[in-house]
Amino acid sequence: MDRSSRLHDAARPSVLALDPYALEVPTEEIAARYGLAVEDVVRFDTNTSPFAAENLAEPLRRFADRMALNEYPDTSYGELVAAIGRYTGFGAGQVVVGCGADEILDMAAKVFVGEGRSAVVPEPTYVMYDLVTRIVGGTPRPAPRPTPFEMDADAVIAAARGAAAVWLCNPNNPTGDLTPVEDVERIVANVACPVVVDEAYYEYCGVTVAPLISKYPNLLVVRTLSKAFSLAGLRVGFGLASAGLIELMMRVRPPNSIGTIAAALGAAALDDTAVMRAHVAGVVAERTRLVATLRPMVQDVRDTETNFLLWKVADPKRVAEALLSRGLIVRDVSGRPGLAGYLRTTVRTPAENDRLLAELRRIL
Ligand code: PMP
Repeated sequence: MDRSSRLHDAARPSVLALDPYALEVPTEEIAARYGLAVEDVVRFDTNTSPFAAENLAEPLRRFADRMALNEYPDTSYGELVAAIGRYTGFGAGQVVVGCGADEILDMAAKVFVGEGRSAVVPEPTYVMYDLVTRIVGGTPRPAPRPTPFEMDADAVIAAARGAAAVWLCNPNNPTGDLTPVEDVERIVANVACPVVVDEAYYEYCGVTVAPLISKYPNLLVVRTLSKAFSLAGLRVGFGLASAGLIELMMRVRPPNSIGTIAAALGAAALDDTAVMRAHVAGVVAERTRLVATLRPMVQDVRDTETNFLLWKVADPKRVAEALLSRGLIVRDVSGRPGLAGYLRTTVRTPAENDRLLAELRRIL
């Protein structure tokens, strides 16, 4: 047996069994593959904001002067936590910060799921719930939906019997639909385990279950600066929950996973939300226009509460590949449960969206 197969055998069985996250192909690689300029490649696949957080250029320069990068960040992230408090109304004891929302999900899996336990994953939903559950040795449990675009609270409650956690994405990725607050509350109130409600796209719909935290100690709300705040490259996310749940999360939180620059800029972003709100308004106006324009062109366009759209064509693989060859990267979700035929695209600037529509007209 050679060294590499012995190394392979040394890995945990649950890691060997994983279908790992498919890393996005870099923009530069797509440009090189199709002989395009890097500036002509547009990412419609990552649900990020097309707008730069231009209000942060000045704070970044200011922080750069006084930042001591030879030292570790403030391990308590006091400034960032205080800014999250001002944005959300939650005190320091009810906040946990992480390197993106993904790290909050990872921490929750480590605290609650773990080896031999199971967690409810109502597919189709954000792929990381299945993955973080499996990484820690747990088993995802399905919760049937009436359609891929609706949540059945009773099915989730039934599936959660004996489960270690429930993962909910609201609004849901990749479908864009929103489960009403009353349904989420019914789930949280009627299951014995923690419920993680991932509100990564909260700012695009304005609907949150965070006020329920005072009533339900088993509710963890997850947020991020990666979407509406235009800061996916910064890597800052946070969780809001009861003091008891946060105390458990703090036991597994890596002490220094957010860099000093990211923590300082994240706090500045949370304290200056006017630009973010203007960008969200722009995206919301564009998504209305895109839905209306796309509807007569394709088989189905779902209504959305997020910054992305789900739409259906007869041959999604061909359409995605044809768009890719023209430098427009869309997400093919047609292999996900219940989503045969569907592609997912991020709402971008009016000019970029027009380019997508024009190329689509040619391809279809
Ligand atoms: N949750 C959902 C539902 C997402 O779509 C994403 C981004 N793909 C994340 C979490 C991860 O966000 P972050 O960049 O904060 O890790």
